Amino acid sequence: MPAIVTVLGEIDPATLGPTDCHEHLLIRGGLPIVLEPDFRLDSVDAAVAEVGDFQAAGGAALVDCMPLGVGRDARGLVEVAERTGATVVATTGFHRDLYYAADHWVRTYDAERIADLMVAEHTEGMEVSGYGGPFVERIAARPGAIKLAFSGPEPTPTERKLAAAVGMAQRRTGLPVVTHTDDERSAALQLSILDGYGVPPSSVVFGHMDRHTGVAGLAEVCRTGATVCLDWLGRHDRRPDSYVADLAAGLAAEGCLDGVVLGQDLARRGYWRAYGGGPGLANLVATFPALLRKAGLTDDHIRQLLVDNPRRVLTRLEPS
Ligand SMILES: [Zn+2]
Repeated sequence: MPAIVTVLGEIDPATLGPTDCHEHLLIRGGLPIVLEPDFRLDSVDAAVAEVGDFQAAGGAALVDCMPLGVGRDARGLVEVAERTGATVVATTGFHRDLYYAADHWVRTYDAERIADLMVAEHTEGMEVSGYGGPFVERIAARPGAIKLAFSGPEPTPTERKLAAAVGMAQRRTGLPVVTHTDDERSAALQLSILDGYGVPPSSVVFGHMDRHTGVAGLAEVCRTGATVCLDWLGRHDRRPDSYVADLAAGLAAEGCLDGVVLGQDLARRGYWRAYGGGPGLANLVATFPALLRKAGLTDDHIRQLLVDNPRRVLTRLEPS
């Protein structure tokens, strides 16, 4: 049966509600919070409150994009899902090179062995320390997506190897791939590497491309059959959300809206109401739909962006 894999088990895709396809609910450890203390999202209570606000405004599901070795808190994600009733999808896979220490195992294991680690999270459950060692300790919850990240126009050698490992793991698990891009060329490069392992474009969601390119560049990615996540939202100190609403309207005019999902990536304490900042996770469903309507999109379009497209891209395919 086709299913979306959440931290509380598989669900029927038809039951998925409005979804934030790129979020961070907990970041508790690893190098990200050393390099940037504002990334420290270490309170389950805060995540429960923030997700509660999101639900009260009409949101239902969130994809937590913190993968292995960078502060993912698998147990905490389960607790947030249990306490709120929200649908939470966790990720295995990898973040950018700079978040792994010079002696981290991502640099020494080959792609095949690294793929095995991701596949084992899918078949046996998530490893609570992100394979931080020395013992492997799993919980029943499984990841529902695989993360891949490139920093800059060219991936580092480690990122290129990890992309190969993600390609292998996708084929063995059928899980969707969600990516971090740092440059307008990243999506094409990531897609070409994944394609080399037989990953269907329909199972790939490219994150952050709205930071690097406009409607034409985004439409080009959508026309490969892949999905773009417009996720530079809620950062009102940097850019108004109306910019993203206009991009979505432009993509609708190009006939590309079926290849678009939304996220916020509000991975900073300063963006969370529960930590005393704002606008908070609820922004996506409380405020942004009005801007989409103002840009010319209909309620059907909004449902497509928040519900129909996430249902399609988050559904795990049977491995072939
Ligand atoms: Zn992110």
